Amino acid sequence: TRTMIVTGAASGIGKATAELLRERGDTVIGVDLRDADVTADLSTAEGRASLIEQVREASGGRIDGILAIAGLAAPIPATVAVNFFGMVATLEGLRPLLSGSEAPRAVGIASMASLHPHDDELVALLTAGDEPGALARAEVLAGDPSTGHLIYASTKKAFAQWVRRAAPGEDWAGAGIPLNAIAPGVIVTPMTAPLLETEEGREQIRAGVPMPLNGFAEAIVPAHLLAWLVSEENTHLCGQVIFVDGGSDAVIRGDST
Ligand code: NAD
Repeated sequence: TRTMIVTGAASGIGKATAELLRERGDTVIGVDLRDADVTADLSTAEGRASLIEQVREASGGRIDGILAIAGLAAPIPATVAVNFFGMVATLEGLRPLLSGSEAPRAVGIASMASLHPHDDELVALLTAGDEPGALARAEVLAGDPSTGHLIYASTKKAFAQWVRRAAPGEDWAGAGIPLNAIAPGVIVTPMTAPLLETEEGREQIRAGVPMPLNGFAEAIVPAHLLAWLVSEENTHLCGQVIFVDGGSDAVIRGDST
């Protein structure tokens, strides 16, 4: 059986994906802050190091897939630490454990929010790998109600760009590992529940996220795509950021692909 590491496995998309992979017969090592096989806090350097150590131990040193799903949507600096640095550390830190796999695969989660307004300075700091600088910039953005929302979009934009740059390189494609990302639209999970609860919130979402096809999606929808991306069938997808968003990317970006 194949061994899959799923971060964010206690809730939402991560939970649905872990369940789907287990049904498919994979061995899943779920990672989260609580209620998971491995508990680790991806917002800190110690937590990230502990994740790698614990997964190495639990897996016996050989894994077949990494699904970096854990994320935060709050307009706070911690979102920078989890969504960008935590996700990249998960992928890079666990990558050596893929070397014993015959069909190694890796995927992370961006978002259709990467198409929303973002903060160029924060994206540049993330891209430079400057965590203290990025946290300081996020602190400034978080302090102003009119800019807090730029934090999440910036982390997802920077992560999508990281995948585009890293995937074709020596460490990933060069090592036979397809690395990709998905960019979900609006998925019904505890992350979006507060907004989806009220008609006002739903209207606010619809205004920013046009969804011509089928509207809001359940967590199983991105889970199916994630499961395929880490399956043996996926031999040639490389560096793609796949929008599973009911068409919002097609509407927002039009024919600029
Ligand atoms: P969720 O809140 O239901 O689940 C996220 C999980 O990540 C939680 O279990 C949480 O405990 C975990 N997590 C948060 N901080 C962590 C930390 N410091 N260390 C370890 N684990 C941590 O949210 P979800 O909707 O399932 O989101 C999953 C991913 O999908 C996120 O990256 C999110 O940004 C992305 N996404 C979600 C949507 C959506 O509409 N729900 C849309 C686009 C992208």
